[in-house]
Amino acid sequence: MYNMLSNQNPFKTAQTQLDEAAAIMGLDPAIHELLRWPLRELHITIPVRMDNGTTQIFHGFRVQHNDARGPNKGGIRFHPDETIDTVRALAEWMTWKTALLDIPLGGGKGGIICNPKTMSTGELERLSRAYIRQLGSFLGPDKDIPAPDMYTSPKIMAWMLDEYSIMRGQNEFGAITGKPLALGGSAGRNDATARGGILCVREAADLLGLNLAGSRAAIQGYGNAGSFAHKLAVELLGIKVIAVSDSKGCIYNPEGFLYSAIMAHKQQTGSVTEFPGAAAISQKELLELDVSVLFPAALESVITAQNAPAIRAKIIAELANGSTTPEADTILHNNGVYLIPDLLCNGGGVTVSWFEMVQNAYGYYWEEEEVHKRLEKKMSAAFHSMQEAAKTHKVHNRLGAYIVAVQRVAEAMKLRGWY
Ligand code: GLU
Repeated sequence: MYNMLSNQNPFKTAQTQLDEAAAIMGLDPAIHELLRWPLRELHITIPVRMDNGTTQIFHGFRVQHNDARGPNKGGIRFHPDETIDTVRALAEWMTWKTALLDIPLGGGKGGIICNPKTMSTGELERLSRAYIRQLGSFLGPDKDIPAPDMYTSPKIMAWMLDEYSIMRGQNEFGAITGKPLALGGSAGRNDATARGGILCVREAADLLGLNLAGSRAAIQGYGNAGSFAHKLAVELLGIKVIAVSDSKGCIYNPEGFLYSAIMAHKQQTGSVTEFPGAAAISQKELLELDVSVLFPAALESVITAQNAPAIRAKIIAELANGSTTPEADTILHNNGVYLIPDLLCNGGGVTVSWFEMVQNAYGYYWEEEEVHKRLEKKMSAAFHSMQEAAKTHKVHNRLGAYIVAVQRVAEAMKLRGWY
């Protein structure tokens, strides 16, 4: 969706980012043009019987950006403001993410325009199953593998897996990731996005010589990534989380928030707002707090040329996809803010999705510690390749990450004879 405040089209952002990297790398013009667009996109119209007996028509998409390095991979979003351009951008970002993390997958993304908050469980199940029925022949462990994203969950993945298995006439665990543990899910998948981000923050702090213990952080967004980032920032880094937010508002307490207390309040009231003893602040104030780490973990395009000059965080850890615009990247870099770009920072999610597929394929499941160990190795390797490319080319981290990823995808395309 477009962030209404910035009115920035995420697909334009994604194309601009690629254009900047291509210019630095001297990328072949044909390859550049090919990578600016998805290889394939599907638009579907889905009728769903609602609880009141009427039929409602939904629109959905699946975009397959590039599968030169392996099958397309990426989540499915349920959101009332979903647009094809957002899904295109997100699919493209998945191509770079899987390449940077060096996992043998490509980039895809899906979305349905719907408001899951106003739908019953039965309606959501019928919508999820119908989406898979319409797209089934384009999906599969060797073609395109969906996963959870904004407002989709392991429960929704379970329905999708079941529908796909029915279509194929056999169990198909490897066709969907982010599944519940009892249905071929992987240990460590639920907090993998946040855990990967926290590992990157630790690497960044080491590099900058920053001592994070006792320092302060703010988290914008309190979904899967944001809430687990709160838990793990406290547990693994000893950070104090002084501000959190969700779609209803932002709260602040200089003494720091307890993860378990915020979660209990959210479960009870449906929001982090009105937490006892916390002050209400605006999103602008949250983003501009004097903190060691700022975690954007909500919508796209929240850090723009307008607010970037006022950001005081030392590290920005992008758990959300597309939270910073290209103009803001340059401003932050010039101001000495160390930004860990989405491609790397939230890549823990898809990395453990890949582990899930591997475990599904050989029917043997790892202990949680094993998943953590392997995730840490992958995140650290990707962090250092980004860092090295940024240093070599004297560019900001996002461009460094792009250069590594685009080089890897271009190499696979060349070997396949696509140019
Ligand atoms: N939706 C997540 C992302 O944006 C995870 C994708 C996946 O696990 O395939 O990276």
